[in-house]
Order: sequence, then structure tokens, then C-alpha cells
Amino acid sequence: MADSVAPPSRSRDLDKLLLRNGNLVGPNFEPGAELRDDLQEYARILVVGAGGLGCELLKDLALSGFKNIDVIDMDRIEVTNLNRQFLFRVEDVGKPKAEVAAKRVMERVSGVNIVPHFCRIEDKEIPFYNDFNIIVLGLDSIEARSYINSVACSFLGAVSHLLLGYLEYDSDDKPREETIKPMVDGGTEGFKGHARLIMPGVTPCFECTIWLFPPQVKFPLCTLAETPRTAAHCIEYAHLIKWDEVHSGKAFDPDDPEHMKWVYDKAVKRAELFGIPGVTYSLTQGVVKNIIPAIASTNAIISAACALETLKIASGCSKTLANYLTYNGVAGLHIKVTEFVKDKDCLVCGPGVLIELDASVTLEKVTCLVVFINLLEDHPKLLLSKASVSHRGKNLYMQAPPVLEEMTRSNLSLPLYELMDKVAKDTIHVTGTTSKDGKKSSCLRKLRVVFKAIDGVTDMDTAGGA
Ligand SMILES: [Zn+2]
Repeated sequence: MADSVAPPSRSRDLDKLLLRNGNLVGPNFEPGAELRDDLQEYARILVVGAGGLGCELLKDLALSGFKNIDVIDMDRIEVTNLNRQFLFRVEDVGKPKAEVAAKRVMERVSGVNIVPHFCRIEDKEIPFYNDFNIIVLGLDSIEARSYINSVACSFLGAVSHLLLGYLEYDSDDKPREETIKPMVDGGTEGFKGHARLIMPGVTPCFECTIWLFPPQVKFPLCTLAETPRTAAHCIEYAHLIKWDEVHSGKAFDPDDPEHMKWVYDKAVKRAELFGIPGVTYSLTQGVVKNIIPAIASTNAIISAACALETLKIASGCSKTLANYLTYNGVAGLHIKVTEFVKDKDCLVCGPGVLIELDASVTLEKVTCLVVFINLLEDHPKLLLSKASVSHRGKNLYMQAPPVLEEMTRSNLSLPLYELMDKVAKDTIHVTGTTSKDGKKSSCLRKLRVVFKAIDGVTDMDTAGGA
């Protein structure tokens, strides 16, 4: 038979998942070649980040049969990336990661089309992100995750942003299913990693579980000063205490080799005094700069978990992860799945912060959100500056670019109530910058605005909000 000599097809393994039924399939799964072909033709995936995890993700997704992939990354390739970011070569150093990664995967996997975007995630207009069926995150920063999360959650409930929808949420405050933008988030740190599924409005979003990222561990100063037990204690003693004692007022510069050498020498002396082994120059750099080595195999494992979840969401071939997988390869191997729950008061994936306004409040007041919020009540989480405001996809005021700012400036003096077409109760989106611990980051917030003393708004409507 001709079948026995046919070369194995690239989709052989995929076919086992997509062409036949099984006990673990999702509720709407319809196996068959049509499903596989539709998946390849219509599913659009965005990979955010083309670093260690991003390279793995692009390869895994392409080999899982996805043919329409975009990748966004603002970085250029550095020599130190080459040990694990396997799509890059020495001759690529200095080139944009997104572009080289896309090219390399397309060379190896026939039929896949990867569109690179060499820019910051904030540089793309919000609707750009709505064009994808699934967003997969391979990032190493909390701020970037937080931003993409807020963007994906902002689509929640919004009826196609040009159409005027009537209902953002159904009567039970449940989001409309077709507006849920699934996200798969991977992250690694040394031998540890996580893969999680975020279905805005259904599973906890990134912001709901922000407490999972504890502040960086700092050693108590008394331990450093009196009872050091490890090489890291000795290094931090030299770095945090001794440096200031000797160089009054002069800031320590971690990128200055002379400064680093000074800390290293002092740490060695300290370690000798207490009989502690293990202080080396590279450990000194690692502790002071808080460098955590990236491990290629951790990226590979986490990426595989993320690519599989992406395939499961897109095809329904299996129930999805519920909802947070942690991997720990520090001592032996440990994998665990935890089902976290939503924070019902979440500012990002919840129905939005409810704010009651006088019908005469102008848009200008709203854009000065810091002042505006203080006038009403204390919403410390909401503090935004340089806010832009939109309502049902229409820009009411834009801080940038200058052309849009000029076009929308005249709206500032108008009452928000009129700009919102005199609807007594509706949602607006506010983008701006927040600063936390001196760090500025972009964010997007949803506000449910209710106008006071407008007919049709009852106490029932305002009860139980935010
Ligand atoms: Zn949330």
C-alpha cells in the first residue's frame, strides 16, 4: 500500500489531537481535518517578547501548526543572549530580535508567516491587540505584563469597538464570551518558571494576582552588620553599609568596574573575618546587580506548556489549564497546578470602578484624574497622570500624538455627559501613566460613570459597584 511508504507528515502528532475525539476534549470540540485547516488558516497569534522565552514560543507555535503569528519586541540582540536565544547568531548582534527571530523560524518551518514588530508594546494602538485570537506573553518585566493585561482586559465586554453596543455585561455582570481575549503568560527565573492561562473576566487576570510577585528579598541590615552567615551577606554588607561609610554621598555605580572591585575586596575581608567561604567577583556582580542566570531548559519547558495551552484554547482539543502552573527544577523536579481565583474588586478585569459624577463635570476635570478622583473619594489605585480618555472607541481626548491632541483639545471644555451622548450610565477608558516607587508605567483603566440626578438611574444601578 502507498500509505506505508509515505513520509511522516509534519502534522502527524497534531493530527492525533485534532482528528479524533477523546475523553478530555473541551465542550465545543469538533474533530476533523477541517478544524486543523481552519486553525492554520484563521487563528492569529501574537507573541509578546522575542527573548529567551519568545524564541522558544515562536518555534513551538510554528511547529504546532499555527501559520499566522506576529511577534513584538523592542530589543536588539546582544552577545550575552546567544547561549539560550537559539534563533540568533554572532552576526545578528545589534539587529532587532523580533525581525531576526521571525526570519529564522520562517526559514525552518515552511508555510508559516511571522510578522515582526520592532517597537515598544505601548507604541501600538490598542485595536492592534484586538486583531489577535490569542496573546502569548514571553516577557521578563512585571510592568510590560501589566500593560498587556490591561489592554486585553479592556476588550472585555466591549461590543466591537465601532458599533454602538447596548450591553457591556449581561444581566449577571458576566462578560460576553466573544469579547474575552485569552492570554497565555510564561515566565522563568533560573530553574523556576510558570505558565498561566488568563481568560479575562473568567480566570484571575495578572492584576488580580499581582501579590504573586513579592518585593525583592532584602537581607535585614542587622544580619548584614552583626551576624553574616553567607557569602551574599558579606557582599551586601560591603555594598549597602561599608560603601556609604567610606564614600559619604557618592552613589555606588554597579556598572563601574572600580566600584564593583572595591565592594568585592571589602566583601572578601568581611568573609575572612567570619570564616565564610564563597565570595567571588562574579558572585559579587550577581548579588549587587541582582542577576539571576537564565536557563535554556527552563525556557523550553515553560514555552512548551504555553504553546500547548494556546493550541488547546484555539482548538478545544482538551480542557485548558486551571489556571497556573509552577515549575521548579532547583532540587529534583516539581510541577504543580494551582487554581487561583479572581479578585472581584479588580480594577482591570472587573466591570470597572464606579464613579458618580455631576452632569456638568467637564472632560478637562476627568483628564486631570489625580485631582478629579481626590475630589470625589479616595481611589489610591486609580491615580493616573497625563490621562487620555475614550468612550466606545471614540477618542474624547488624547495626550499624544500632537495631531490628535490638537484635534481633541476643544472637547476639554465640554461636559463629559454631552460627550458621552447624554447616556446616564456608561463605561469610559482612561489611559495614562502611574508611578509606583518612583517607577513610571503606562496603564489603562475602566471607569463606570454614572451621572447624578439623571432620569433612568436608580439606586439599584449604583449599588454594589466597585
Ligand atoms: Zn483582575
